[in-house]
Amino acid sequence: MRPALLDRLFAPVTALPGIGPQLARLIERVAGPLVLDLLWHLPVGLIDRRAAPPVAALQHDSVVTVRVRVEAHYPGFGRRPFRVLCGDETGNLTLIYFNARGEQIARLLPIGAERIVSGRVELYHGAPQMAHPDYVLAPDAADRLKPIEPVYPMTAGLGSRVIQKAAAEAIARAPEVPEWIEPSLRARRGWPGWAEAVARAHAPSSETELSPLDPARERLAYDEILASQLAVALVRARRQRRPGRVTVGTGALAAAAEAGFGFPLTGAQRLAIAEVTADMGKPHRMMRLLQGDVGSGKTVVALLAMLSAVESGAQAALLAPTEILARQHHATLQRLAAPAGVEIGFLSGREKGRARASMVASLASGLTPIVVGTHALLQPDVAFRDLALVVIDEQHRFGVEQRLALTEKGRSTDTLVMSATPIPRTLMMTAYGDLDVSRLTEKPPGRRPVDTRTVPLERLDEVVAGIGRAVAAGAKVYWICPIVEESETTDIAAVEARHRALRQSLPVRVGLVHGRLKPAEKDSAMADFAEGDIDVLVATTVIEVGVDVPEATIIVIERAERFGLSQLHQLRGRVGRGERASTCLLVYQSPLGEVAKRRLAILRETEDGFRIAEEDLKLRGPGEVLGTRQSGLPALRLADLALHEPLIAVAHDDARLILERDPGLDSARGAALRILLYLFRRDEAIQYLRAG
Ligand code: ADP
Ligand code: MG
Repeated sequence: MRPALLDRLFAPVTALPGIGPQLARLIERVAGPLVLDLLWHLPVGLIDRRAAPPVAALQHDSVVTVRVRVEAHYPGFGRRPFRVLCGDETGNLTLIYFNARGEQIARLLPIGAERIVSGRVELYHGAPQMAHPDYVLAPDAADRLKPIEPVYPMTAGLGSRVIQKAAAEAIARAPEVPEWIEPSLRARRGWPGWAEAVARAHAPSSETELSPLDPARERLAYDEILASQLAVALVRARRQRRPGRVTVGTGALAAAAEAGFGFPLTGAQRLAIAEVTADMGKPHRMMRLLQGDVGSGKTVVALLAMLSAVESGAQAALLAPTEILARQHHATLQRLAAPAGVEIGFLSGREKGRARASMVASLASGLTPIVVGTHALLQPDVAFRDLALVVIDEQHRFGVEQRLALTEKGRSTDTLVMSATPIPRTLMMTAYGDLDVSRLTEKPPGRRPVDTRTVPLERLDEVVAGIGRAVAAGAKVYWICPIVEESETTDIAAVEARHRALRQSLPVRVGLVHGRLKPAEKDSAMADFAEGDIDVLVATTVIEVGVDVPEATIIVIERAERFGLSQLHQLRGRVGRGERASTCLLVYQSPLGEVAKRRLAILRETEDGFRIAEEDLKLRGPGEVLGTRQSGLPALRLADLALHEPLIAVAHDDARLILERDPGLDSARGAALRILLYLFRRDEAIQYLRAG
């Protein structure tokens, strides 16, 4: 149950004075529905009203607070504004009101009265003016003016001042809470207590205090990160407590398959297999992420793990996000598993009738030990005799529920997730903190680096001519066109136009594949390319993930400046898979922005996916690195993963230590940490606490 001291923060914003349903809707849009949300809605700027020069010294475009006497009114007419002449001993200041009513002004600024006026000054032909002052106050009400005023992100119909008031009310409702941060850490960092941090973050007194690295804001960011790390640590701890199965293979099938590979495993592959089989052999549920750049050899690792399950007398399944990938995995695995004499089944949405029924029966009876498939594997009538291991390729495309749907088909099934996106360590901890990780950091030997070059769009003709020559010499070429999400139709039109143009200008066979094609059409275009019936494949990023045509040696990426760094890296990974030298041409439209320039430069510099991912994180922010929404990455409001990166590791270790010492969060600090989880709405993790 939520601690009662938080009740006032969990009230709807309408509980605040002056906030009715209409304002509440607007506040909900920018901040959220609860009083609590206003606490996390921090100012993005400030207005310093402390300058109070004599009127004669007013400067153009400055914010000031001056004390003046109202001298005269000059009502507006037509388009002319209402003008109020004021002044002090040194000179005159004209206040300007558009669309003002006379009585209103007479009440606000009666002639002869002293007023404190604050706002932005402009010099008009040398004479100071202030249009619509922010504040006009009688001298005895001067304390209503904050010398430094926070500025909040606004939305249409909702000004910063309204939010400022609402936020102030919210802060007034913030309770004193017990400290959840380890005292020595707090002291070392010079962080204030929680309530003070909230108050200070909302009352910046200088630009530096707006920085995410200011102690008050940094503390709040740490709170948020700690809450998320604690939540994933709780999930992880629960998983480790749940009984798993012990799957121990004999090694016989794996050895037979390996003997047929024709290459020795890399050190990284050996280590990964050892980690996976050790996990499978332990009586808890494996939830491991196998991370490795394109071409690093994940498939082989997955196969050996699956064979280990088969050796133990159980079954394994590999789930791929698309039909193309599933078929490709199936073909590869069948080839690699043949020496071990293990059949690999296949099931996708396209298997119907008898074929489907017989595969389903064969899985249920256990006759098929390993199956590769798409979402079709998740259908309710698909059952296994004894499913011990689920391998999931390209995790971002599957939600957590889908992952679970397949593992539920077995008894305490182990899960291995393969991801070709090299995820920076920090993001790993935030997004997949509940997973154990094996990393393939080393590529199989003999790979030649991809020669990566940038070419301005003006030289496209030369590129086309070069492609013609390369194809004549036997090359296979990918030609990638960008998809910009706003209008898929125009994008598809662009791809089709490129397809036509290349067909016309080159005596080569040009194929086309994009997202609007039917799956069967996509597959057949890919197959034609793989089998050599097509020389150039014009495609959108549908080929981005996992597709393997080792003979392809050239990739042209048109409008490369429109792609993200990791995406370009993935695309480039389509070539350089065989023994022959490969080329990647990044065709860009000039002039390039700074970020785009940097991106292309990094690609020329390195092929190290992990380094590229780190750079991408710096350039773009976490949501995009992970492939946005589907990433399952919880939105962070106060923490900036790039800026606060060092805090993540601290919080990660802290969270694990906390649960080691106090698995039920029963201590005094544990109680404080429960409050923290509620504050950041991670309280669903509380149900995972060990009972008692
Ligand atoms: P990933 O799935 O990580 O993109 P794959 O498992 O598809 O990579 O491997 C890419 C290519 O490298 C495949 O053709 C595979 O047979 C080959 N390969 C895998 N491991 C090795 C190795 N240790 N030595 C040489 N080639 C390897
Ligand atoms: Mg693969």
